[in-house]
Amino acid sequence: MTVDYLIVGQGIAGSILSYELLKKNNKIFLIDNYYPNSSSRVAAGLFNPVTGRRMVHTWMANELFSLAHSYYPALEAELGVKFFYPLPLHYLFSSVKESNDLFAKFGDMEFADWINPNPIENNLSDVQAPLGFLELKQAGWCHVGNMLEAFKNYFETNQCYLQEEFNYDMLRQTSVGWEYGRVKATAVIFCEGARATANPWFGHLPFKPVKGEIITFRSDKLSLASIVKQHYWIIPQGNRIFKCGATFDFNRIDETPTTQAMNELETWLTKTVKVPFKVINHQAAIRPAVLDRRPLLGEHTACKNLFIFNGFGSKGVSLAPYLTGHFIDYLSHKSPLLPEVNHLRFQPGK
Ligand SMILES: Cc1cc2nc3c(=O)[nH]c(=O)nc-3n(C[C@H](O)[C@H](O)[C@H](O)COP(=O)(O)OP(=O)(O)OC[C@H]3O[C@@H](n4cnc5c(N)ncnc54)[C@H](O)[C@@H]3O)c2cc1C
Repeated sequence: MTVDYLIVGQGIAGSILSYELLKKNNKIFLIDNYYPNSSSRVAAGLFNPVTGRRMVHTWMANELFSLAHSYYPALEAELGVKFFYPLPLHYLFSSVKESNDLFAKFGDMEFADWINPNPIENNLSDVQAPLGFLELKQAGWCHVGNMLEAFKNYFETNQCYLQEEFNYDMLRQTSVGWEYGRVKATAVIFCEGARATANPWFGHLPFKPVKGEIITFRSDKLSLASIVKQHYWIIPQGNRIFKCGATFDFNRIDETPTTQAMNELETWLTKTVKVPFKVINHQAAIRPAVLDRRPLLGEHTACKNLFIFNGFGSKGVSLAPYLTGHFIDYLSHKSPLLPEVNHLRFQPGK
């Protein structure tokens, strides 16, 4: 089989990239090990333009969010599956000082696109919010697991998907490109998420994987029509099911759920939610984060037509549509990559 691109990894990065390359009439072949604890399969899929302890709008928020809000609904229609849920996000103040500071900051016109100055309805009667809240616009969540299953079906139907572990030792460079078993490809693109640290060509890049844990709970009494965020977040999933997370552990990089994270999340939930709930699931996975918290894109410095598309950290949902378009322009038209995402920023002398 001869293709333009052999792609390794069917997380959110590899899926959207493969799909968009196919739509542009490229031949692709995608290999993924269907690992149940991949970052994309565990992720809660939250997207939120104003984040962090200092509540600043995220990197390239205008470009990322305007595209995401049109891209995902169109993708749902194309794949015939529902997975994108825009919802207001209510940020609960933790102190009077924080409330004063944030109201002063968000009075600024710069934030008019992100903050609703007059929240229409207060749906927070089941949640402790004694100091008030801010309502953020353009937020929501994406059921990434459902989206990936729809993509997998699509790739299988188009006979361009193989479920297996990619063996780096089998990849051979030829005079015209690359060969992997019976697949001959002009180029190879690696999208292995946090597993990229084992990649012989790109594993040296400064990944800084971060473990995250989330819990799923059921509450028959909790009525919530928005995402709630303070130290952690609660996302309503429908059918009385909610997700709560996520922890950040920079030291213990494995996929084992811990009692410590469970206690942290349950303690916060008990303080925040006024009604009974029951935890029904607890998961852990590793975010493919990078030292400077920006993605890693581009071609290998010594091996032609060997590419990386990775480093989406904790923001895969908001980054993937925009960076896919940006990367395809780079692959197809040699448009320059943004310096902040080009992996060459870590090359000495660059
Ligand atoms: C607990 C937690 C919560 C999160 N919450 C959010 C959130 O709310 N919002 C958000 O936007 N992001 C969130 N994230 C981050 C998000 O999951 C990532 O940004 C995104 O999923 C990364 O996608 P990816 O495709 O680069 O990597 P991955 O999802 O890891 O996909 C890589 C794929 O490649 C496969 N693979 C790797 N090596 C091989 C190999 N050798 N052979 C075959 N297959 C291979 C893997 O198994 C996997 O299927 C969260 C992450 C965690 C851990």
